[in-house]
Amino acid sequence: MEDVIILGTGCAGLTAAIYTARANLNPLVLEGTQPGGQLTTTSEVENFPGWPEGIDGFQLMDNLRKQAERFGTRTEYARVERVDLSDPKVKKLYTEDDRELQARSVIIATGASPRLLGIPGEKEMFGGKGVTTCATCDGAFYRDMDVIVVGGGDSACEEALFLTRFCSKVTLLHRRDELRASQIMADRVIEHPKIEVKWSTVPEEVLADESGQMRATRVRNVKDDSVYEIEAKGFFIAIGHIPNSKPFEGVLDLDNDGYFLTQAGSQVRTKVPGVFVAGDCADHQYRQAITAAGMGCQAAIDAERWLAEG
Ligand code: NAP
Repeated sequence: MEDVIILGTGCAGLTAAIYTARANLNPLVLEGTQPGGQLTTTSEVENFPGWPEGIDGFQLMDNLRKQAERFGTRTEYARVERVDLSDPKVKKLYTEDDRELQARSVIIATGASPRLLGIPGEKEMFGGKGVTTCATCDGAFYRDMDVIVVGGGDSACEEALFLTRFCSKVTLLHRRDELRASQIMADRVIEHPKIEVKWSTVPEEVLADESGQMRATRVRNVKDDSVYEIEAKGFFIAIGHIPNSKPFEGVLDLDNDGYFLTQAGSQVRTKVPGVFVAGDCADHQYRQAITAAGMGCQAAIDAERWLAEG
């Protein structure tokens, strides 16, 4: 039986690995289908403290992995499909290839996946060629350019407002004629001189120039069925995230959107003693690499203390 199993190799999971490995807990990290997590999908990370010139997202994750391995972290590919946390001393994880893994403590850092539109051009231009799901990460690359934001919730409004700092014009596409966002955010967006809201409008295709870089988006007005193109270099999708919490449904407390809920007074402690959460699977508010790393650190320290008490 392992002392600690960590699910996920994003910022949260690998930071938890560094801390638990340095505490001689010999962590086993389970890696899913996106090694390194969401950061590996962005080109350059300019806001991770300690990298004044910025660092490539993939490189940053590779560094974190090496740092975790240096202290004895073991990593293996495994996707957990279901869990049995009923025995307080032995947590059981069942993988998709029917293995049973046992641990005294578990840190869940499975992340969240941005919801995508599934339209032509989206996948082809994702990450560096115009299409992205993170204004905080990529906004600065679109200085003095026209960009499009898709969505009508708080995230879309927040991203649109953030982008006005860099971009010459932000067009917000929303599929209905009323924003879902909170009133204050909606008002700020509607009143902002750099933002134009295209109501009842959905993107149909992201269009590339001859070099494969985004050039425009073809959109459709769902009310009058008119179709036209909007010229823009950036396409920011903000239609929500899907936390990767499915194997824990009915076992741990989740909110209505599937994010893990934690115990009062803790960002990382779940209702099952010895089971902790960290990063985007438990955080729909900040969703930053550095906050995920911070939660990974908290989860690791709490796991270490919990194991020491047991
Ligand atoms: P959200 O509230 O679920 O909004 C998603 C938006 O995307 C909705 O406007 C939705 O349209 C649209 N959408 C969904 N699927 C679409 C599709 N296939 N095509 C086109 N549009 C689509 O998600 P969120 O904005 O990420 O917010 C998640 C939670 O975090 C919310 O509770 C939010 O309040 C909170 N949050 C708060 C803040 C803040 O307070 N500063 C910032 C960010 C997020 P419909 O409206 O038609 O459904």
